[in-house]
Amino acid sequence: MSIHDDFPLNRRRFLEAGSALAVTAATRGAAAAAEGGRAASGMKYRRFGATELKVSEIGLGCASGLRSRQLGPYLFNRYREQLPEIVDKLFDLGGNFVATSQSYHDTEEILGRALKGRRQDAIIFTATGKSEPKDVIAACEQSLKHFQTDCIDCYFAHGGWRDGFHEAALKLKQQGKIRFHGMSCHIPAEHRTRVEAGLVDFVFQPYNYMALAKWTEKIDRDGAEELFQLCKEKDVGVIVMKPMTGHYVPSWAKETSDPKVLRLMQELKQFGTKNLYQAFLMWILKNPNVGCTAIGMNTPQDVIEDCEAVGLEFTQLHHRLLEHYAAAVTGDYCRMCETCVPSCPQGIRIPDILRFRMYYRNYGHREDARELYAALPEHQRATACTACGICQQTCPNGLAIVEKLQQAHGLLA
Ligand code: SF4
Ligand code: SF4
Repeated sequence: MSIHDDFPLNRRRFLEAGSALAVTAATRGAAAAAEGGRAASGMKYRRFGATELKVSEIGLGCASGLRSRQLGPYLFNRYREQLPEIVDKLFDLGGNFVATSQSYHDTEEILGRALKGRRQDAIIFTATGKSEPKDVIAACEQSLKHFQTDCIDCYFAHGGWRDGFHEAALKLKQQGKIRFHGMSCHIPAEHRTRVEAGLVDFVFQPYNYMALAKWTEKIDRDGAEELFQLCKEKDVGVIVMKPMTGHYVPSWAKETSDPKVLRLMQELKQFGTKNLYQAFLMWILKNPNVGCTAIGMNTPQDVIEDCEAVGLEFTQLHHRLLEHYAAAVTGDYCRMCETCVPSCPQGIRIPDILRFRMYYRNYGHREDARELYAALPEHQRATACTACGICQQTCPNGLAIVEKLQQAHGLLA
């Protein structure tokens, strides 16, 4: 039984089904998924809300990999060449989904080629940033071509809700071009409104150890965990992004003499970063209201280590690494909660600017970060900041926002 068995087997799928018979490991994974069980590889599967899809607990996200063209043509092309191997490794280890967006360069085409012969066992998540229904439909048609398929399993509005997306998604569903639709954004409250209104089959929400209340002082609105509880009640699927907080580790070490950072670096030297990254995943998967998490995996070895986390026991060592990590980054990590936004008399897009700073410093996505910053209207950029400090009084995480905005401008302008 395949994860698509409740769907008509069209000609393309019929042909692909033939070649998929040879892919025994993936087929075993799919069979386990269909039963909601555990593959021989150790991968586990969860029900993805009312979609009834059985998603592997972890799968491939593409933001951190294929957005890496700014790391230089050599590394970028090496990654692109490796992607089919990464997908193969993931599916051999029981993973069954890939998640990307049409705006992530040529990811869709590369994944489309990588999934050839595996389509029967794959769940495809992809997205558009378009708003007008006709543009959403045109974007979806393109995505179908890129993936060399007749139907996208989970199609979503990238970066926030648009009514035009919803209108188009309903048509695309009627036409059998998508199965389910949802949205991604960074703010739980935005998701919440659409979940409560019954408008989405799934949400794509950032969630990681830094969301924990002890690192984020109480704020007067619900966070990701409350959103996930609501999703459970409404039977809406939850897919997590940014599970590892944005790979913060390497950059501070060079930039700071903060004792908390130095303590973390010492621990990582002793125990290896693999333990920290696996701890991030294990911590997320402890939450029964999460469906699955999409992870940027840049090499087949990343896949092996990330998949390994599914079957590991969360130990005191993992807990300690997360604690030390969080203590080191809490004053620098913007949770994109938007609490500060209404307080700024200038209307500066603080969380966006800090997110672009993260893309630049931590992901190494310098070109994208600069482009995103340049696309902000002038009056919303850091240069419009009068250093009045009001935002800093509202930030529940105590970020030195003024200083960070200035630093961001220096990097991004
Ligand atoms: S310090 Fe700058 S960003 Fe913060 S509220 Fe004042 S003007 Fe806005
Ligand atoms: S700067 Fe603080 S208040 Fe503003 S979005 Fe980031 S974490 Fe939230």
